[in-house]
Amino acid sequence: MRNFKDSFITFLITIIISIWLVFLIYFFNVGKGTPPLIFANIPKITIDFFNNLPDTLDLGFGYNPNPKTSDWYNNNNLGENPENGYLKLEDSLFIIYYYPEVKSEALRTKDNAHKAIIPLIDLMGKYHYPYLVNNRKLPIYVPKDCKSYNATISNIQKNKLVEYCDGALGIYLFEVSKMGTLAKGIVLNPIIFNDLLTEKVTLWHEMNHYVYFNEFRFDSINEPAVWVFEGLAEYFANNKERLSDVDTTKLDKIHLNKQFNFDDNYWVGYTAYKAMEKKYNRTKLKKYIQLIYSKAPENAIKEIYGIFISDFEEYWKKDAKELFIQYINNHEK
Ligand SMILES: [Zn+2]
Repeated sequence: MRNFKDSFITFLITIIISIWLVFLIYFFNVGKGTPPLIFANIPKITIDFFNNLPDTLDLGFGYNPNPKTSDWYNNNNLGENPENGYLKLEDSLFIIYYYPEVKSEALRTKDNAHKAIIPLIDLMGKYHYPYLVNNRKLPIYVPKDCKSYNATISNIQKNKLVEYCDGALGIYLFEVSKMGTLAKGIVLNPIIFNDLLTEKVTLWHEMNHYVYFNEFRFDSINEPAVWVFEGLAEYFANNKERLSDVDTTKLDKIHLNKQFNFDDNYWVGYTAYKAMEKKYNRTKLKKYIQLIYSKAPENAIKEIYGIFISDFEEYWKKDAKELFIQYINNHEK
């Protein structure tokens, strides 16, 4: 009798634990389908900051207060309609929209996009495959000329025609809502295809933004430092030509935790990441990168490198000057 009672209690406990486990599995699966809470409360100050970035930067931001599931469908992309004449190359990760005149450029773009994935995972800690972003493939546009470049950007952003051609070599267009960061697409300036290295560097720079802004905590940093993400993109793309922009007179006046001229963010950021890699190492740099998705650079520098940003600045300025002199010497030969 005693044995029967024990067995019955064991049986009962097993049933209760099983029901609890089924409940937990169900609960967490349901959780997977709901939007991440971090996107639910994006402060107005952050939305204003991104909306007010100048046209000369290679970012096009939008905030969508009323997102729909269908916004993420790739069949709603601009492209493949008779009006704009785009054709497409599609695989499991990317859709490359191109004009028949630039098919070989489009094929090289697809190849360079695939080659960026493993290096992005290595540096950034993650790549956002479609299954992680509501099954959306990353659209990349290869326009045939200046006119189609401007028209593509304007049409995706649904704004008036703006002259982008003389500005950035490429642009990353994205929209943020409580459903997450939606990559509207990368649009490449036709001028980059005059040079094989420039076309790869430009695409890799924009793809770095794709990963960064998918990880970026829009609820944590109100007004992010532009050098943090522009420098990271330049460092990832290994854009050595950026050294030609180093302005040694301005360098002495710039502080990494204060605002400075927007266009200087590229060379300032690039040289800052080069200095971090040299002073510490790439492993520590990767740990630092994991923090800058949610923390200001001064806090990330203190936490990972154990120094104040002002001390790092001293080292960076010296290193940036050295890199610039090396660059000039190499180009004078
Ligand atoms: Zn950029």
